[in-house]
Formats: sequence, C-alpha cells, structure tokens
Amino acid sequence: MDHHGTGAALSNYARAIFDGCLRHAQRAWPQSCVLCGAASAQPGRFGAPAARGFCAPCRASLPGLPAARCEVCALPLTSGQRCGPCLAHPPAYDAVSVPFAYAFPVDALIQAYKYGGDLALAPVLAATLAPALDGVDALVPMPLSAARLRERGFNQAHELARHLGCRFGLPVIADGVRRISDTAPQAALPWKARARNVKGAFVCDADLRGRHVAIVDDVMTTGATLAELAGNLKSAGAARVSGWVIARTLRDTSESENLLSAGKPSTSQSEPLLCAGTAS
Ligand SMILES: [Zn+2]
Ligand SMILES: [Zn+2]
Repeated sequence: MDHHGTGAALSNYARAIFDGCLRHAQRAWPQSCVLCGAASAQPGRFGAPAARGFCAPCRASLPGLPAARCEVCALPLTSGQRCGPCLAHPPAYDAVSVPFAYAFPVDALIQAYKYGGDLALAPVLAATLAPALDGVDALVPMPLSAARLRERGFNQAHELARHLGCRFGLPVIADGVRRISDTAPQAALPWKARARNVKGAFVCDADLRGRHVAIVDDVMTTGATLAELAGNLKSAGAARVSGWVIARTLRDTSESENLLSAGKPSTSQSEPLLCAGTAS
C-alpha cells in the first residue's frame, strides 16, 4: 500500500479545494458589516479577508434566543427541559439548533436573502449557525416544491446547507428528498392548522439507514414542517434527525419580548466560512 502517495494526492486535492474556496471567499465577501456597513478591520483566518458579517456592536444587538429553552423544539422556557407540547407529543425530530428569534434585524436579513435574492447573505447567515455537530453526518436542506423553486429561482435552505456542508465537511443530500405538495404558506395559517397543512408534503427516496441527519432551514415557525420532513427521514432509516435553523418565530409578541429581554442572548461569534460550493 502506498500510503505516502495517497497522502500526498489527498493533500494536493485538499489544497486545491482550499485555494478554490479562498478565491471564492475573496471575490464574494467585501469586508463590511451587513447591517451598518462598518468596515471590519479583522482579517480572517490564514490571512483571508474577514467574511462579510457583523461588526461587534451589531452582533451584540442581534435577537439571540435565551439559553433556557426546550431541548427539543428550542421554544424559550422559564423552567424545565422540555416544553409541554414536546412532552405530550414528541415531534419526529430530536433537537433543534437555532441561534436567533425571528425578530429585527434578523428577519429583515432573511427576507433580503430569501425574497430579495441577496445570495451574498447565504454565507453570513450560515456562519451564525455554530451548531454542536453532535454526530451529524449529513445535511438535508428543507426542499421547496418545484413551483416555488421556479418562482424564487433558488432554494434558500439549499444554499445555507452548501455553505455549512463545506464548513463542516458534511455531505448535502438533496436528491431523493422532495416536496410534492405546494401547500399554503405556513405564515398565512393559524398556528394549529399548520401541522395539517404540511401532512404528506414530502417524499424521501434516499437511503438514510443509521444516519444522523440535520435538516437545514432558514425559519422555524411551529416546527410542523420540520416535524413532517423529519418523519419522512426517519421512515427512510435516519436514526436521529436534528434541525439547524437560523431563526425561530415565537408564539406571540409579548412572549418573545419578555423572554428576549429576560434571557442573555446566546449568539456566538462564528469563524468566517472560507469555502463554498464543494458539497452538493
Ligand atoms: Zn454593524
Ligand atoms: Zn418543545
């Protein structure tokens, strides 16, 4: 066995990928805060330019979820480990990693990304997810229906997953996981109607036996869509399903304001992402 030869070839391959990623990073990300435009004086790792992201004051002002939250669905809690609904009817997913409440200015960034087509925000938003890897071995972007994909031109969850896959060296499984029904937008529905709305919305032909997959999405509302897809992934053999989501909607404004002011934001400074697009 030619271990040295194999090692050299692998190392050349890794270097080629890294160089490609770095060039992409240098082209794609001007060094300024996405919220206030302040220039960043901080270089990134390995002398690369800092990723386009947040300056320190803007980062500190982001609406982080309190540390006390349901260990399954991430709903802020005042006591206990799990919220009542997750105790009574555990969802098909096992845990959610989500840094922010869906509140200003994170909501505005997500809308600019998703509806305004500002794809340069994808690595910025992806970098806010610093999830405990916790044994995750593949990423599944929340699929869009074919009609929605045509309308939007890109799947915002897939772009996030590509950046995360690159960062953590995880495969992104998109083929074989499809959204077959174009349901009414969840945002337009009463909270309780949302589970019914997404029933049967997905098919999964991928073989996920024994894998721990993380579903990547931009926004979680009730978690009904996440739970529905997680059920499909478990039927396809997944041993464990996590959610990696940028922001979570809280049930009502008073709840979100009380809990956000009570809790210390738990956002963490993420390292800049240095590569994009090597996983698909
Ligand atoms: Zn700023
Ligand atoms: Zn819960």
